[in-house]
Amino acid sequence: MRATFARAALLLLATRAVVPAAEKEKGSKAEAGKTKATWWGHAAWVVKTPGGETIAIDPWLTNPKAPAGATQPTQLDAILITHGHFDHVGDAVFFYYRSCSEIYSAFELCTLLATDKCNGMNMGGSFTIKDVTVHLVPAMHSSGFGDGKSPPGYGGPAMGYVLSVEKGPVLYHAGDTDVFGDMSLIAERYHPTVAMLPIGGHFTMDPVGAALATKLLKVKTVIPMHFGTFPALDGTPEQLAKALKAEHVSAKVEEAKPGDTLKL
Ligand SMILES: [Zn+2]
Repeated sequence: MRATFARAALLLLATRAVVPAAEKEKGSKAEAGKTKATWWGHAAWVVKTPGGETIAIDPWLTNPKAPAGATQPTQLDAILITHGHFDHVGDAVFFYYRSCSEIYSAFELCTLLATDKCNGMNMGGSFTIKDVTVHLVPAMHSSGFGDGKSPPGYGGPAMGYVLSVEKGPVLYHAGDTDVFGDMSLIAERYHPTVAMLPIGGHFTMDPVGAALATKLLKVKTVIPMHFGTFPALDGTPEQLAKALKAEHVSAKVEEAKPGDTLKL
């Protein structure tokens, strides 16, 4: 029991290092193309900011669609995990030990990961790392964590992340979610310009749902993800483009192939 309290205290101490810095966002002027996002397939991204920060989101870099032979990053400054499912926690613990990265996730998921430097947070929280302010926002999904053999542990809520990059985009990674009405609140509060949205269906929204999400988010660019990894995830970027047209949404579909680096 004492060990549990000590661990909770450590986690809280780690979280105290997190400093909201809304001021940083004020007056920042976007410079197109200086932020780079490499898609590793599925929901896995490695984002490099103009200030030199390297951030991995849902780093399952060994997923079936990961680019063959690509060199994995040797240094990650931060790892953001949207929820506890294996296809999102991915190789986070491996990268944590390899590059001493800071992990950020739901408080409960942090307690289940085998690391002692995990920043446990929750929806509504924000933190700043160099030139990026990150906000944790809701997602409509589940978040059990386990090895698939025994019942999963409670991983807290599933979440999305909004990355407000100084001199760059406001990038929303939705994690796994269905479309939900409060995406319009995400738009109102954080003004995302680019959204990475799941479109595969089955576990998340499909292309029609993602088109509606794009409308609510008011983003200029939508990047489809979480499709094609498994047969059940059968939504396609073409279906998304068609659904956007039907919704009279003019956002551009930025389609990436695993291994592509997008300049945002
Ligand atoms: Zn998933």
